[in-house]
Amino acid sequence: MMLPTHLAATLVGCLLLARWRGLDREGWTLALLFGVAIDVDHLLEVPAYLAAAWPARGLAAFSPGALAGHGAGWHSIFHAPAFGLVVAAVAIGLRTAVPLAAWALHQTMDWAVGAGVGFATPAEFALLAALLAALAFLARDHVRRTWPGWTVARWARASLAAAVLPSIVRREG
Ligand SMILES: [Zn+2]
Repeated sequence: MMLPTHLAATLVGCLLLARWRGLDREGWTLALLFGVAIDVDHLLEVPAYLAAAWPARGLAAFSPGALAGHGAGWHSIFHAPAFGLVVAAVAIGLRTAVPLAAWALHQTMDWAVGAGVGFATPAEFALLAALLAALAFLARDHVRRTWPGWTVARWARASLAAAVLPSIVRREG
């Protein structure tokens, strides 16, 4: 599925988990890593795609339709069933099921594309809209419970600062 759909679904999953039994910073990071960032393996398929599509289509190879038509051909190592063993090893090593749950969610969503939902279709946009609505509700609820008196905007700014600032401080230090 599209990156925003994976991101929204993973964040909804994180917020549900946070509400159910709490989720620390490592948990959020692992969820985003195995639920969203694994799509970077599509880049590995770019040379093979261009080698096949460029001679036949030229610039049209970059059209959204042509790119989407490549479908599961974009999937590489991080989407391979065998990669599940690596994810399982990480989960066991870190004693958390979060990587497995996030990876399984991602795989299920990508499977749904081939099973009829399609890529960037009205059905996927409807799913994205539903996820964003759930995300808005859950984020507001999460902030209210965790930091009484805070707005979602203030929480988002503080979270972003907490994620970005330490790396800047490290770089300058
Ligand atoms: Zn994917």
